[in-house]
Amino acid sequence: MRANSVLLAPGEAGVNELGYPRTWAGPWHGGAHAFRACPMCATDPARGTALVWQLPLTISCGEHGCRLENAIAVRVALNLNELPPPTPVEEPLATLDRYTYAALATGRVDLPGRSVHAGVWFRLLRSLVDEVSVAESTLRMHARTTLEQVWEATGLPYRAGLNTWRPYERLDWEIQQAMLLAAATALHLAAEGEITARGRLASAIQPPRDQYVYDGDQPLPALTAWQEAVIQAEMKMADARSNPDAARQMLAWMTLSCTTMTEFETERAYLFGAGIPASFLPSAAELGRSDLI
Ligand SMILES: [Zn+2]
Repeated sequence: MRANSVLLAPGEAGVNELGYPRTWAGPWHGGAHAFRACPMCATDPARGTALVWQLPLTISCGEHGCRLENAIAVRVALNLNELPPPTPVEEPLATLDRYTYAALATGRVDLPGRSVHAGVWFRLLRSLVDEVSVAESTLRMHARTTLEQVWEATGLPYRAGLNTWRPYERLDWEIQQAMLLAAATALHLAAEGEITARGRLASAIQPPRDQYVYDGDQPLPALTAWQEAVIQAEMKMADARSNPDAARQMLAWMTLSCTTMTEFETERAYLFGAGIPASFLPSAAELGRSDLI
Protein backbone atom coordinates (compact mmCIF):
# COMPACT_ATOMS: atom_id res chain seq x y z
CA MET A 1 0.00 0.00 0.00
CA ARG A 2 1.15 3.52 -0.81
CA ALA A 3 3.87 2.42 -3.20
CA ASN A 4 2.55 4.73 -5.90
CA SER A 5 2.24 8.11 -4.28
CA VAL A 6 1.10 11.22 -6.12
CA LEU A 7 1.36 14.31 -3.93
CA LEU A 8 3.70 12.96 -1.28
CA ALA A 9 7.31 12.01 -1.86
CA PRO A 10 7.94 8.24 -1.98
CA GLY A 11 7.90 6.77 1.51
CA GLU A 12 6.54 9.91 3.10
CA ALA A 13 2.95 8.73 3.31
CA GLY A 14 4.01 5.85 5.56
CA VAL A 15 1.81 2.85 6.10
CA ASN A 16 -1.52 3.10 7.82
CA GLU A 17 -2.52 0.09 9.85
CA LEU A 18 -5.99 -1.22 9.21
CA GLY A 19 -8.10 -1.05 12.33
CA TYR A 20 -10.69 -3.68 13.21
CA PRO A 21 -11.92 -5.47 11.13
CA ARG A 22 -8.63 -6.05 9.39
CA THR A 23 -10.05 -7.40 6.19
CA TRP A 24 -10.13 -5.00 3.29
CA ALA A 25 -11.97 -5.93 0.10
CA GLY A 26 -9.62 -3.90 -2.07
CA PRO A 27 -9.85 -0.56 -3.78
CA TRP A 28 -13.34 0.90 -4.28
CA HIS A 29 -15.07 -2.21 -2.87
CA GLY A 30 -16.99 -3.04 0.22
CA GLY A 31 -17.93 0.37 1.52
CA ALA A 32 -21.34 1.35 2.79
CA HIS A 33 -22.04 4.00 0.22
CA ALA A 34 -25.02 5.46 -1.48
CA PHE A 35 -27.11 3.51 -3.93
CA ARG A 36 -27.28 6.10 -6.68
CA ALA A 37 -28.95 6.80 -10.01
CA CYS A 38 -28.86 9.48 -12.67
CA PRO A 39 -32.14 11.46 -12.66
CA MET A 40 -31.85 12.08 -16.41
CA CYS A 41 -31.03 8.48 -17.36
CA ALA A 42 -33.97 7.41 -15.15
CA THR A 43 -36.48 9.15 -17.43
CA ASP A 44 -35.46 6.84 -20.27
CA PRO A 45 -36.96 3.38 -19.65
CA ALA A 46 -34.54 1.84 -22.13
CA ARG A 47 -31.60 2.63 -19.87
CA GLY A 48 -30.42 0.48 -17.04
CA THR A 49 -28.17 1.50 -14.20
CA ALA A 50 -24.41 1.63 -14.47
CA LEU A 51 -22.30 -0.45 -12.12
CA VAL A 52 -19.95 2.47 -11.58
CA TRP A 53 -22.78 4.44 -9.91
CA GLN A 54 -22.60 2.02 -7.00
CA LEU A 55 -18.88 2.59 -6.43
CA PRO A 56 -17.59 5.57 -4.43
CA LEU A 57 -15.67 6.67 -7.50
CA THR A 58 -17.68 9.31 -9.30
CA ILE A 59 -20.05 12.12 -8.41
CA SER A 60 -21.78 12.54 -11.77
CA CYS A 61 -23.37 10.63 -14.64
CA GLY A 62 -20.78 10.18 -17.38
CA GLU A 63 -23.25 11.01 -20.09
CA HIS A 64 -25.28 13.86 -18.60
CA GLY A 65 -22.71 15.39 -16.29
CA CYS A 66 -25.32 15.86 -13.57
CA ARG A 67 -25.04 14.68 -10.00
CA LEU A 68 -26.01 11.09 -9.26
CA GLU A 69 -28.77 11.10 -6.65
CA ASN A 70 -30.12 8.58 -4.18
CA ALA A 71 -31.62 5.85 -6.35
CA ILE A 72 -34.70 5.35 -4.19
CA ALA A 73 -35.40 9.08 -4.19
CA VAL A 74 -35.06 9.15 -7.98
CA ARG A 75 -37.45 6.20 -8.33
CA VAL A 76 -40.07 7.71 -6.00
CA ALA A 77 -39.90 11.16 -7.62
CA LEU A 78 -40.20 9.57 -11.03
CA ASN A 79 -43.29 7.62 -10.00
CA LEU A 80 -44.87 10.80 -8.65
CA ASN A 81 -43.85 12.64 -11.80
CA GLU A 82 -42.07 15.18 -9.62
CA LEU A 83 -38.47 14.72 -10.61
CA PRO A 84 -36.47 17.79 -9.48
CA PRO A 85 -34.15 19.32 -12.10
CA PRO A 86 -30.73 17.64 -12.21
CA THR A 87 -27.88 19.33 -10.36
CA PRO A 88 -24.85 20.13 -12.51
CA VAL A 89 -21.46 19.06 -11.11
CA GLU A 90 -19.05 21.99 -10.83
CA GLU A 91 -15.33 22.12 -11.33
CA PRO A 92 -12.97 20.67 -10.20
CA LEU A 93 -15.14 17.57 -9.64
CA ALA A 94 -16.39 17.70 -13.23
CA THR A 95 -12.84 17.25 -14.54
CA LEU A 96 -12.14 14.44 -12.09
CA ASP A 97 -15.22 12.56 -13.29
CA ARG A 98 -14.35 13.27 -16.91
CA TYR A 99 -11.00 11.53 -16.38
CA THR A 100 -12.65 8.54 -14.72
CA TYR A 101 -15.27 8.14 -17.44
CA ALA A 102 -12.59 8.46 -20.12
CA ALA A 103 -10.68 5.66 -18.37
CA LEU A 104 -13.79 3.47 -18.31
CA ALA A 105 -14.82 4.24 -21.88
CA THR A 106 -11.52 4.38 -23.73
CA GLY A 107 -8.99 2.71 -21.43
CA ARG A 108 -6.82 5.82 -21.36
CA VAL A 109 -6.84 9.25 -19.73
CA ASP A 110 -5.16 12.38 -21.06
CA LEU A 111 -3.80 14.08 -17.98
CA PRO A 112 -2.00 17.45 -17.94
CA GLY A 113 1.40 15.70 -17.74
CA ARG A 114 0.84 12.79 -20.11
CA SER A 115 -1.62 10.16 -21.23
CA VAL A 116 -1.92 7.15 -18.91
CA HIS A 117 -3.54 3.73 -19.08
CA ALA A 118 -6.83 3.35 -17.20
CA GLY A 119 -5.15 1.03 -14.69
CA VAL A 120 -2.65 3.73 -13.82
CA TRP A 121 -5.44 6.29 -13.51
CA PHE A 122 -7.36 4.19 -10.98
CA ARG A 123 -4.19 3.65 -8.94
CA LEU A 124 -3.41 7.33 -9.10
CA LEU A 125 -6.90 8.32 -7.99
CA ARG A 126 -6.92 5.73 -5.20
CA SER A 127 -3.54 7.05 -4.01
CA LEU A 128 -4.79 10.63 -4.09
CA VAL A 129 -7.91 10.01 -2.01
CA ASP A 130 -5.68 8.23 0.46
CA GLU A 131 -2.99 10.90 0.59
CA VAL A 132 -5.46 13.72 1.25
CA SER A 133 -6.63 11.73 4.28
CA VAL A 134 -3.19 11.40 5.89
CA ALA A 135 -2.89 12.91 9.38
CA GLU A 136 -0.95 16.18 9.33
CA SER A 137 1.19 15.22 12.30
CA THR A 138 2.91 12.45 10.34
CA LEU A 139 3.99 14.72 7.49
CA ARG A 140 7.06 16.81 6.83
CA MET A 141 6.78 20.53 6.21
CA HIS A 142 6.48 20.54 2.41
CA ALA A 143 3.79 17.89 2.36
CA ARG A 144 1.93 19.47 5.23
CA THR A 145 1.85 22.84 3.46
CA THR A 146 0.69 21.17 0.24
CA LEU A 147 -2.16 19.32 1.91
CA GLU A 148 -3.18 22.42 3.88
CA GLN A 149 -3.34 24.34 0.61
CA VAL A 150 -5.50 21.62 -0.95
CA TRP A 151 -7.96 21.48 1.92
CA GLU A 152 -8.12 25.23 2.20
CA ALA A 153 -9.06 25.44 -1.48
CA THR A 154 -11.90 22.94 -0.94
CA GLY A 155 -13.43 25.21 1.70
CA LEU A 156 -13.71 22.24 4.06
CA PRO A 157 -11.86 21.54 7.32
CA TYR A 158 -8.62 19.54 7.07
CA ARG A 159 -9.44 15.98 5.92
CA ALA A 160 -13.11 16.89 6.28
CA GLY A 161 -12.76 16.68 10.05
CA LEU A 162 -11.86 12.98 10.01
CA ASN A 163 -10.44 11.98 13.39
CA THR A 164 -9.27 8.43 12.96
CA TRP A 165 -7.78 7.30 9.68
CA ARG A 166 -9.61 4.49 7.91
CA PRO A 167 -9.28 3.12 4.37
CA TYR A 168 -11.30 5.17 1.90
CA GLU A 169 -13.75 2.31 1.34
CA ARG A 170 -14.75 2.33 5.00
CA LEU A 171 -15.57 6.01 5.21
CA ASP A 172 -19.13 7.27 5.06
CA TRP A 173 -20.25 8.42 1.65
CA GLU A 174 -20.37 12.04 2.91
CA ILE A 175 -16.68 11.90 3.84
CA GLN A 176 -15.83 10.00 0.67
CA GLN A 177 -17.31 12.85 -1.35
CA ALA A 178 -15.13 15.32 0.57
CA MET A 179 -12.07 13.16 -0.21
CA LEU A 180 -13.01 13.11 -3.90
CA LEU A 181 -13.35 16.89 -3.82
CA ALA A 182 -9.91 17.19 -2.20
CA ALA A 183 -8.43 14.83 -4.81
CA ALA A 184 -10.04 16.86 -7.61
CA THR A 185 -8.76 20.08 -6.04
CA ALA A 186 -5.24 18.66 -5.75
CA LEU A 187 -5.32 17.69 -9.44
CA HIS A 188 -6.45 21.20 -10.35
CA LEU A 189 -3.81 22.94 -8.21
CA ALA A 190 -1.04 20.69 -9.55
CA ALA A 191 -2.14 21.28 -13.16
CA GLU A 192 -2.06 25.04 -12.51
CA GLY A 193 1.37 24.84 -10.90
CA GLU A 194 0.07 26.11 -7.57
CA ILE A 195 1.28 23.04 -5.73
CA THR A 196 4.12 20.69 -6.61
CA ALA A 197 3.29 17.01 -6.43
CA ARG A 198 6.32 14.90 -5.57
CA GLY A 199 5.17 11.28 -5.78
CA ARG A 200 6.08 8.57 -8.27
CA LEU A 201 2.98 9.34 -10.34
CA ALA A 202 3.36 13.12 -10.02
CA SER A 203 4.62 13.65 -13.55
CA ALA A 204 1.26 12.53 -14.90
CA ILE A 205 -0.75 15.25 -13.20
CA GLN A 206 1.41 18.31 -13.72
CA PRO A 207 2.68 19.78 -16.97
CA PRO A 208 6.40 19.26 -17.55
CA ARG A 209 8.35 22.09 -15.96
CA ASP A 210 11.89 23.30 -15.66
CA GLN A 211 13.84 21.41 -13.09
CA TYR A 212 12.69 22.32 -9.66
CA VAL A 213 14.61 22.00 -6.46
CA TYR A 214 13.50 19.40 -3.97
CA ASP A 215 13.90 20.13 -0.32
CA GLY A 216 15.78 17.11 0.91
CA ASP A 217 14.98 13.70 -0.38
CA GLN A 218 16.01 12.21 -3.67
CA PRO A 219 12.92 11.71 -5.81
CA LEU A 220 12.46 8.35 -7.52
CA PRO A 221 12.22 8.61 -11.28
CA ALA A 222 8.72 8.76 -12.70
CA LEU A 223 7.12 5.54 -13.88
CA THR A 224 8.30 4.44 -17.30
CA ALA A 225 6.02 3.00 -19.95
CA TRP A 226 7.26 -0.43 -18.91
CA GLN A 227 6.47 0.09 -15.28
CA GLU A 228 2.99 1.10 -16.35
CA ALA A 229 2.82 -2.10 -18.39
CA VAL A 230 3.75 -4.04 -15.26
CA ILE A 231 0.93 -2.38 -13.35
CA GLN A 232 -1.47 -3.39 -16.11
CA ALA A 233 -0.21 -6.96 -16.07
CA GLU A 234 -0.47 -7.14 -12.27
CA MET A 235 -4.04 -5.95 -12.48
CA LYS A 236 -4.91 -8.52 -15.12
CA MET A 237 -3.34 -11.26 -13.00
CA ALA A 238 -5.21 -10.10 -9.92
CA ASP A 239 -8.44 -10.24 -11.90
CA ALA A 240 -7.67 -13.69 -13.33
CA ARG A 241 -7.12 -15.14 -9.83
CA SER A 242 -10.77 -14.62 -8.98
CA ASN A 243 -12.50 -14.47 -12.34
CA PRO A 244 -12.64 -17.62 -14.54
CA ASP A 245 -13.46 -15.62 -17.68
CA ALA A 246 -10.49 -13.33 -17.17
CA ALA A 247 -8.27 -16.37 -16.49
CA ARG A 248 -9.45 -18.09 -19.66
CA GLN A 249 -8.86 -14.95 -21.68
CA MET A 250 -5.40 -14.52 -20.25
CA LEU A 251 -4.47 -18.14 -21.04
CA ALA A 252 -5.82 -17.77 -24.59
CA TRP A 253 -3.81 -14.59 -25.01
CA MET A 254 -0.58 -15.98 -23.58
CA THR A 255 -0.73 -19.13 -25.71
CA LEU A 256 -1.57 -17.40 -29.00
CA SER A 257 1.90 -17.93 -30.42
CA CYS A 258 2.31 -21.52 -29.12
CA THR A 259 2.65 -24.18 -31.78
CA THR A 260 3.15 -27.26 -29.60
CA MET A 261 1.28 -28.82 -26.71
CA THR A 262 4.43 -28.56 -24.59
CA GLU A 263 4.62 -24.80 -25.10
CA PHE A 264 0.92 -24.51 -24.26
CA GLU A 265 1.35 -26.51 -21.04
CA THR A 266 4.35 -24.39 -20.07
CA GLU A 267 2.28 -21.20 -20.25
CA ARG A 268 -0.60 -22.86 -18.43
CA ALA A 269 1.76 -24.02 -15.66
CA TYR A 270 3.15 -20.50 -15.43
CA LEU A 271 -0.31 -19.04 -14.79
CA PHE A 272 -1.09 -21.78 -12.26
CA GLY A 273 2.20 -21.00 -10.53
CA ALA A 274 1.22 -17.33 -10.43
CA GLY A 275 -1.80 -18.17 -8.32
CA ILE A 276 -4.59 -18.69 -10.85
CA PRO A 277 -6.66 -21.75 -9.82
CA ALA A 278 -6.21 -24.74 -12.15
CA SER A 279 -9.99 -25.02 -12.53
CA PHE A 280 -9.98 -21.54 -14.16
CA LEU A 281 -7.42 -22.64 -16.76
CA PRO A 282 -8.98 -24.66 -19.60
CA SER A 283 -7.06 -27.33 -21.50
CA ALA A 284 -5.85 -26.77 -25.06
CA ALA A 285 -8.82 -28.82 -26.35
CA GLU A 286 -11.28 -26.78 -24.29
CA LEU A 287 -9.80 -23.63 -25.79
CA GLY A 288 -10.30 -25.06 -29.27
CA ARG A 289 -6.58 -25.32 -29.99
CA SER A 290 -6.68 -28.38 -32.24
CA ASP A 291 -3.73 -26.93 -34.16
CA LEU A 292 -1.14 -27.79 -31.50
CA ILE A 293 1.21 -30.68 -32.20
ZN1 LIG B 1 -27.37 10.18 -17.00
